[in-house]
Amino acid sequence: MKVLLKNIYIDIDGVILTRGGVPAQHLDKFLRYILNNYCVFWLTSRCCGDSKYTVKYLSQFLLPEIVSLIERIKPTSFQVDKTEAIDFSKRFFWLDDDLFASEKNTLREHSQFDSWIEVNLIKNPDQLRDLVNYKLNLYK
Ligand SMILES: [Mg+2]
Repeated sequence: MKVLLKNIYIDIDGVILTRGGVPAQHLDKFLRYILNNYCVFWLTSRCCGDSKYTVKYLSQFLLPEIVSLIERIKPTSFQVDKTEAIDFSKRFFWLDDDLFASEKNTLREHSQFDSWIEVNLIKNPDQLRDLVNYKLNLYK
């Protein structure tokens, strides 16, 4: 079995879905890659410790084959800041379009600000593909 060394935390709005609930481009390729190479967690207000709700919500926007991929993403929960759910003892990436100032501060306190990957699908609709090819690529 492959040892997954790094965690990835992913947001939904602005990362999996772009404006108007439209699925991000290259979502299929992106999800397959991260699920095969990382330990993947939700980090979204649409998941409060139970990913069944998250999957149900997303299934109205996504094709069934993509829904079967997101079923493999692990749940997290937090009260106020998403950083409450991050395991800072492990290396990670966090894909999110928008952080609170307090969340940015927490990352800085842990010297992990660079673990945040700012996703902006409006600026670059191909960003998920680019991440798989470069920043998240373990073979470069
Ligand atoms: Mg968001």
